[in-house]
Amino acid sequence: MSKEAMRAEAERLIKEALAKNSVSVTRGATRIETKCGKCGAVNRVTAEAGETRVEYKCKECGHKQKAI
Ligand SMILES: [Zn+2]
Repeated sequence: MSKEAMRAEAERLIKEALAKNSVSVTRGATRIETKCGKCGAVNRVTAEAGETRVEYKCKECGHKQKAI
C-alpha cells in the first residue's frame, strides 16, 4: 500500500467513526432544559437515553446539581 493510499484509508476511517458518533449521539441522547437551583439560570443538559437524572454544572455559577 502506498503512503497516499494509507493516508486516504486513515481519513476514511476517521470520517466513518465521526459519522457513527454523531448518529448515536442524536439518536440516544435527549436534551433537557433545566433551571439552576442556586441562581435560576437555564442550562441545557444532554442526557443519555433512558437516563432521567443527569448531574451537571451550572454554566452561570458553577453549582453542581442533578437535573430531573
Ligand atoms: Zn447557577
